[in-house]
Amino acid sequence: MYFPFLAEAAEFAASALDALRQPLETGAITIHRSGVSAAFPARFQLVMATNPCPCGNYGVPGGSCVCPPNQVRRYLGKLSGPLLDRVDIELGLRRVSVAQATEAGGHATLSTAEAKQRVLAARSRAAHRLRETPWSVNARVSGQWLRQGPCAIASEARRPLDAALHRGALTLRGYDRVLRVAWTLCDLAGRPAPSTHDVGRALFMKRGIVA
Ligand SMILES: [Zn+2]
Repeated sequence: MYFPFLAEAAEFAASALDALRQPLETGAITIHRSGVSAAFPARFQLVMATNPCPCGNYGVPGGSCVCPPNQVRRYLGKLSGPLLDRVDIELGLRRVSVAQATEAGGHATLSTAEAKQRVLAARSRAAHRLRETPWSVNARVSGQWLRQGPCAIASEARRPLDAALHRGALTLRGYDRVLRVAWTLCDLAGRPAPSTHDVGRALFMKRGIVA
């Protein structure tokens, strides 16, 4: 598994970013040349970061953006809706202040080794739950199995998600991605099945949608 990190993702050509859609969805990339096509495995976990605008100050408290409004729109527009639809988690980050940086250094936070143990435990719970399926991690499970399989999340817990789909705030693809993240949150917490809280958190993480 590869973990490519695209820093300043909005600086990439829109065509290059949109070419990521197929491998993000299928884990493979098909190349057509001279009437011949070949498919190559391309499964990876993509991380992208971007500034809010070319100067980096748009919407930043205390910052003063010097970019014309249409340039700000064009900049973030490079990350197209169809590409973002294939992204599981979108997080807005604030600039770290000196006080926060010092605080983080002085307090015990989760160490890399502890985080690894949590992830391994979560993956083992998922693998156990999925033991009679072709998959072993939440990211690979099919949408149909997530929605209608033996472990489908209770309709009560899915209600906020159904509402978001109904009002067009989510596509069906996005809906399935939220279900996968909800399962991962539940596996990280060691719970047997995602609660309404897990689904709500996953929905918020998908597009900042508040249930
Ligand atoms: Zn700016």
